[in-house]
Amino acid sequence: MALIVHKYGGTSMGSPERIKSVAKRVAKWARAGHQMVVVPSAMSGETNRLLALAKEVQPAQMDAAAMRELDMIASTGEQVSVGLLALALQSEGLQAVSYAGWQVPIRTDSSYMKARIEQIDDVRVRGDLAAGKVVIITGFQGIDGSGSITTLGRGGSDTSAVAVAAAMKADECLIYTDVDGVYTTDPRVVPEARRLHTVSFEEMLEMASLGSKVLQIRSVEFAGKYRVPLRVLSSFTPWDIAIDEEASSGTLITFEEDEKMEKAVVSGIAFSRDEAKFTVVGVPDRPGVAYQILGAVADANIDVDVIVQNVSHDGRTDLSFTVPRGDYQRTMDLMQSKVLPATGAAQVMGDPKICKVSIVGIGMKSHVGVASKMFRTLSEEGINIQMITTSEIKTSVVIDEKYMELAVRSLHRAFDLESPAVAG
Ligand code: ADP
Ligand code: ASP
Ligand code: MG
Repeated sequence: MALIVHKYGGTSMGSPERIKSVAKRVAKWARAGHQMVVVPSAMSGETNRLLALAKEVQPAQMDAAAMRELDMIASTGEQVSVGLLALALQSEGLQAVSYAGWQVPIRTDSSYMKARIEQIDDVRVRGDLAAGKVVIITGFQGIDGSGSITTLGRGGSDTSAVAVAAAMKADECLIYTDVDGVYTTDPRVVPEARRLHTVSFEEMLEMASLGSKVLQIRSVEFAGKYRVPLRVLSSFTPWDIAIDEEASSGTLITFEEDEKMEKAVVSGIAFSRDEAKFTVVGVPDRPGVAYQILGAVADANIDVDVIVQNVSHDGRTDLSFTVPRGDYQRTMDLMQSKVLPATGAAQVMGDPKICKVSIVGIGMKSHVGVASKMFRTLSEEGINIQMITTSEIKTSVVIDEKYMELAVRSLHRAFDLESPAVAG
């Protein structure tokens, strides 16, 4: 008998019919003798609907008080899901009980809308499991030190599931979603993308952080820190397929490098549309000025991603950086009102229509010429590169958003990702 955590995403929970099918699948695992903890997301579209309602009531202000209320509102989607799933499991003849994050409790810090899980108390859940119940816990939410409900950022149910699995030392965490695993790139953008049978933890971490939303980055971080066996698989297979077949389907995140991975120089292509770029022009080139600019952005709790500073001419330099697109206006206001007067820079230019495209692969560590092949491929398509950033196992470029799909498709082809050789 094993302790298994299942996570079901929004599409998988998208209708009463889908929820009944999830219940049948979970019941199959429970009847096979496993202790089951299930972490569902809100039904698809529900979190967007709730946040849009909030925006209708109050479109402008985004201070901590407002963000607290957004979490109060957005967290309700998952509360509906867990109750519905518990009912569906009870109709299957199983004992099932659902909990909101605060009831477990799942304790987080107070960064509303992107809270971090700090601790999970599993006493209650263990008691229920011992009593033979299936336990269903809301994804995406927790409670902070002052008793306020928090949410973990979009896609946060993945993190809830992996954190629960880590806290309970589960034997496996299975992430059920609307694709049958992790692909070389988003199969909705490149239909020729191939499923990877295995992907290394390091590669998955890069892909998630660079925009592949199949797993939220923090879920991968948790899996790495606590060595949680993690698999991504489809919730759209017939619910009654054999457990052994199901348990070996999809994509396994591995923590050891193996020979096969060495072979694929580039394993995947990630992209993110949700980026904006700023260039501060004519910055006096003196110590502390980068801190004056980027420190101000960090103090406003805005995440800076790519940073490029040019060589200076006549004592002045240009500094460019990217931020999440949703923070474009706030960053622009900050630059105009504080940073330009404080630094004496000449002007700030903003571009909200850029994107980032990245190639990722453990094999890049030991191969030269990978980045230059990327640059050549993009130049052959006439795509201008605005910024470049590299690490041991990835190269990212910032380009005009209108070229994103073309860039992803041509790189996917250039690095032979369609060929079976890389399919794990
Ligand atoms: P869920 O609601 O189950 O959490 P998400 O929409 O958050 O599902 O994540 C699954 C989606 O991630 C897929 O439908 C796919 O479009 C997208 N995706 C992006 N990159 C990849 C990739 N490399 N492999 C698989 N899916 C990807
Ligand atoms: N319901 C939340 C969202 O839409 C969390 C999740 O689906 O993982 O972002
Ligand atoms: Mg998701």
